[in-house]
Amino acid sequence: MNYSVKQLRERVLAAAEKVLKRNGSVGPLELIQELDFLHWRVFESWRKGVAVDSPIEARIQCGAEKLADVYRFFAEWAVEKGLKTIEAEYSRRSVNGVEALPLTADGNEERESFYRTHYAPAELSEKKSERLQQKLTKAPDLVVFITTSNDAKCSECDAEIVPGEFLFLEGHLPLCMSCADLDHLTFLPSGDTAMTRRAKKHSPLSAVVMKFNRPRKRYERQGLLITDAALAQAEDDCIADADQRAARRVAAAAQRVVVDQKLVEQMSAAILEQFPNCPADEAHQIAAHAAVRGSGRVGRSAAGRELDPKAITLAVIAHVRHVHTNYDSLLMSGVERGMAREQIRGQIDTVLNAWRGIAK
Ligand SMILES: [Zn+2]
Repeated sequence: MNYSVKQLRERVLAAAEKVLKRNGSVGPLELIQELDFLHWRVFESWRKGVAVDSPIEARIQCGAEKLADVYRFFAEWAVEKGLKTIEAEYSRRSVNGVEALPLTADGNEERESFYRTHYAPAELSEKKSERLQQKLTKAPDLVVFITTSNDAKCSECDAEIVPGEFLFLEGHLPLCMSCADLDHLTFLPSGDTAMTRRAKKHSPLSAVVMKFNRPRKRYERQGLLITDAALAQAEDDCIADADQRAARRVAAAAQRVVVDQKLVEQMSAAILEQFPNCPADEAHQIAAHAAVRGSGRVGRSAAGRELDPKAITLAVIAHVRHVHTNYDSLLMSGVERGMAREQIRGQIDTVLNAWRGIAK
């Protein structure tokens, strides 16, 4: 043993007290961070599902024997103080719903449960305990990455994802925005906190955009993906309380994407040909959305440019799914993607048939 057990015990108790005082509760992973055996950045990226394949226990920088001592002192301290336990699952939000994060490599039930157990003061009221449990269990936001590598490909449709484009990780498999069902969202760059907070509040589905900064060796937040409607509503809110100039500045940045006007007109016409009862402004909206440069959306694919009827139908379906059904709220509430699609199939068919002019 190359450490003093007595000193280690003192360090553990001091760290546990400190975290409990600061956070109102303390769990093994918070304690380990306080003791500098786990870097908070490693912990944060694990929470966000960036390193979803590697269990957090394997990332702890501490020998097994010493770690066992740390946990023993921690458990004894909690019993001595008469703290109450709160079980909280570590999970992440994905397009497949909310998934549990891997804690141990061998899935040992005893250690898994140990990592999920947090301690809080015994006198905490039932209501406060419940709120604390919710806070600890709440999965962090969906995360979308701005690609920096040159060889990224969508694992579902095989589309190339070039640097600068968005990429979603389902487990460790990259997905393009279309396959992840996030391609209807608009990018709002970071910078205006009021705008960001409001847009997120109004958006039924949102994702945080991160980019890897190579020189600094870390992921940095770039902004949010939100719905167009949420962006518009947030702008209205900001203008209403006299943040006018700031709101305009952010709105301008959000729309810096170039739209090919001619393609939009051709696509709108093609949409109305197939779906004569589709409102003209919606046809235009679908076309404008699909034609955004560099978005990897249907309209930019070769088939979309040639106005292939199948590509047109796909773009219309994507629009109907996000605008005329409760699909986004289903995803956000953690319903698995396949199941959510199943649930809204009937709603989509009804709209499509009506737009085609086919009576039920
Ligand atoms: Zn794809």
